[in-house]
Amino acid sequence: MSDRQEPAALSAFRVRARAWLEAHRPPEIAAEADPIAREAADVAASRAWQRSLYEGGWAGRSWPVELGGAGLGPAEEMVFATEAARVAIRFAPLDVGIGMVAPTLIAHGSRKLQRLHLPALLRGETIWCQLFSEPGAGSDLAGLTTGAVPTASGWIVNGHKVWTSHARHADYGILLARTDAATRRHQGISVLVVDMRAPGITVRPLRQMTGEAHFNEVLFDDVAVGAESVIGPVGDGWRVARTTLASERGLVGPVAGGFAALRQLVLSVNRHHDPVVRQRAATAYTDESLLRWLGARAQARVERGLEPGPESSVMKLLLARHTKRTTEFALSLTGAEGMLAAADATDGGFWLQAFLSHPAIRIAGGSDEIQRSLIGERGLGLPREPQAGR
Ligand SMILES: Cc1cc2nc3c(=O)[nH]c(=O)nc-3n(C[C@H](O)[C@H](O)[C@H](O)COP(=O)(O)OP(=O)(O)OC[C@H]3O[C@@H](n4cnc5c(N)ncnc54)[C@H](O)[C@@H]3O)c2cc1C
Repeated sequence: MSDRQEPAALSAFRVRARAWLEAHRPPEIAAEADPIAREAADVAASRAWQRSLYEGGWAGRSWPVELGGAGLGPAEEMVFATEAARVAIRFAPLDVGIGMVAPTLIAHGSRKLQRLHLPALLRGETIWCQLFSEPGAGSDLAGLTTGAVPTASGWIVNGHKVWTSHARHADYGILLARTDAATRRHQGISVLVVDMRAPGITVRPLRQMTGEAHFNEVLFDDVAVGAESVIGPVGDGWRVARTTLASERGLVGPVAGGFAALRQLVLSVNRHHDPVVRQRAATAYTDESLLRWLGARAQARVERGLEPGPESSVMKLLLARHTKRTTEFALSLTGAEGMLAAADATDGGFWLQAFLSHPAIRIAGGSDEIQRSLIGERGLGLPREPQAGR
């Protein structure tokens, strides 16, 4: 929708959001040559950005007013995301806490948990990680074996999680564990909040081909967790986790690879008159717009308390393809310079880093193959895929 077709109230909101974002652009993150230092700088900048949103009255836009939010709807959320994308603002370390944990706490958390964690999230004081995947449970998450055994005061957790993004910097984790050892698959699972500095937790970084150690292994060795830390009813964690996973898919929409940055790159290398370059840029713009609208649809469903529909799977597949095409295009524009990293490179090495990261998008939040199965089963009504375990 163009600005002209928007209802007046939404247009006014857009004008306010644009003005605030223009006036409060976050400081550039220093182009650290060392990927580990770059990650730490990214986390620090994320906290500062969330703090600045909070102080400006822009944090918790769609959260209920009684929980400190602004109570806005998906249309305003999308307008804000669009405006933030224009000025290329996105902080991945905030995704789990703000994008996934907060909606889960709002939907299922006790008042005590909400009061303990939501204000700190709003103010950018806490970074969270998602402790779901295990070495033997990724696409088939219900196969998880991390166990939480009840004690007089809570739970003792033992197990092994993997691919945990930002675990080294996280203050808290949202953990999926089996709280009833007698059950299998989707039953007897609970979602617990864990303090990442609790004794018995070991975080081991996993170095990627980007040089970063974005994700980690997390080992639990007799970790004590308080009884009040369970989100939702004990044993009903699968339902709770579905909110977290639905929010994760909803997150992929507005990211969209930053057309503003791509446009700037085309102009800076003086290739905007080349018809092939123009065509590829137009494709990137079209895909980014589609992603935004699919993101808004997915978000509207989540906010109405519905399961994510096939549009979130279509969005996830499109995002993976779009990121691959966009980063290949950007590197083709930079030529040999595209092989350089950090401060030596165009845009501080952003494009090379994004190019090297793009295969991860095909896997994170449910792989391409899993998304295709979901589209087949839930969108096209095809028979369910055979499940060896049943
Ligand atoms: C960048 C990134 C960040 C991540 N961050 C987190 C995080 O913070 N927290 C967390 O808990 N997890 C995280 N993950 C893990 C992610 O959720 C899993 O990697 C993903 O669910 C796939 O699981 P797996 O790696 O065990 O692969 P597997 O499930 O073993 O799959 C291996 C291959 O088999 C295919 N496959 C599996 N089952 C089927 C099937 N039924 N039909 C067709 N093909 C199938 C898959 O598509 C894949 O190609 C992250 C992953 C990435 C890449």
